[in-house]
Amino acid sequence: TGENTGPQPHEHIMDLAPYVPGRAKVDGVANPVKLSSNESVFGPSPKALDAYARAGENLIRYPDAASTDLRAAIGEIHGLDPDRIICGAGSDDLLTLLIHAYAGPGLEVIHSRYGFMVYPIQSKAVGATAVAVPNKDWAADLDGILAAVTPNTRLVFVDNPNNPTGAYLPWDEVERLHAGLPAHVLLVLDAAYAECVTADDYRAGESLVEKADNVIMTRTFSKMYGLAGLRVGWGYGPADVIDILNRIRMPFNVCLPGQPAAIAAVRDQAHLEAGRAFNAEWRDWLTASLTALGLDVVPSQTNFVLVGFPKDKPYTAEEANAYLTRHGYLLRWLPAQGLGDHLRLSIGTPDQNRAVVDLIASFMSVER
Ligand code: PMP
Repeated sequence: TGENTGPQPHEHIMDLAPYVPGRAKVDGVANPVKLSSNESVFGPSPKALDAYARAGENLIRYPDAASTDLRAAIGEIHGLDPDRIICGAGSDDLLTLLIHAYAGPGLEVIHSRYGFMVYPIQSKAVGATAVAVPNKDWAADLDGILAAVTPNTRLVFVDNPNNPTGAYLPWDEVERLHAGLPAHVLLVLDAAYAECVTADDYRAGESLVEKADNVIMTRTFSKMYGLAGLRVGWGYGPADVIDILNRIRMPFNVCLPGQPAAIAAVRDQAHLEAGRAFNAEWRDWLTASLTALGLDVVPSQTNFVLVGFPKDKPYTAEEANAYLTRHGYLLRWLPAQGLGDHLRLSIGTPDQNRAVVDLIASFMSVER
C-alpha cells in the first residue's frame, strides 16, 4: 500500500466514530414507527407552527445573528438576563462550542459513562481526553466525578436528567457537586429534558448560574417543545463565558424560521404544560406495563424509558430489538455505550405505546 500523500486530518480525529442517530428507516420495513430519538409526539404549539410558516416569506434574508428577540422572550418567560443567554443550532451547538472554547490537547473533560455521546465525541475532536465516570443508580456519580477531577480538568458535563438512562439528580446533589469542584472547572448542566421533569426536588440550574462563576445551563426546543427539526437551543451562563462562546460561534447559528417559532413556543407555556402531563402519564404507563412483564425499567424523568432485559432470560435485548424492527417499531439499542442489555424507548402516541408493549409481550412469549 502506498503512502497517503493527500490532506491529513489531526491525528486524534482518526480514533473517532461518527455520532449514530436513532434510526428513522429500515430496509424492508414500510412506514416504521420511530421511537428512537426522544422526539415529542405531542408536537409543537400550533402558534409555533404559524410563526414558522410566516417566516417562510422572508427566506431571502439572513436571520438575526444575535437572536435578540428570542433571547428576550426566553429571558422574560424564565426571569433571566437576556445578555447572559446564548442561542444555538440545537443545544448540541452550544455543548460543542463549550468544548472548543475550554478544552484541547492535554486537557480533560469529565462525563458520565452512560451519558450523552456528544461530550466524548467533541472532546476527542479537539484532542482533549474524555474521562468517563461510571454512573451511580443510572444518574451521574458525584463522588466519582469529584474524584476524577485533576488540575487539567476543564469541563464537567452532567446531563440532568440523563440520556440514555432517564435518571436525574436531585438539586441538593447538584449543589454538592458544584461545591466540591475547583474554581477552574466549568460545570455544564445539560438540561435538555428539563421540561419533562415532574419530580419536586429537581431544578434545571438557573439559580446556581446566578450564584456561581463556573456554571452554565443548556436547554433545547427539540424535546418537549417539539421542534427538533428546527435545531434551536439556548444556554444561560456567566457573562464572560457567554462572551467567549459568542466569539467562536457561527454568525447566523439559529435559522431564520427557528427564531420566531421558538419565541411562539416559549410563550405558549399552556401547551408545554399539556405536553408535560401527556408525557408523564404515558411514561408512568410504559414503566408500569413493562415492569409487569418482568423487565427492568429505569425510573425516568424524561420522554423515554430505558428498558433492561434480565440476563437470566432465554432472549436478549438485541433479539428484542430485531423483532421490534421487523414489526415496524424502531427503538434504540446502544451496545457501543455498554448498554447492550437494554433498549431505549421514546414515549409515543397512546396507540404506539400500547402496540409496542404488546409487541414486546409477544416477543417474550415466543416458544424457544
Ligand atoms: N443533551 C442531551 C442530554 C440530549 O439527549 C440531546 C438530544 N439527544 C441534546 C443535548 C441535544 O439536543 P439538541 O441539539 O437537539 O438541542
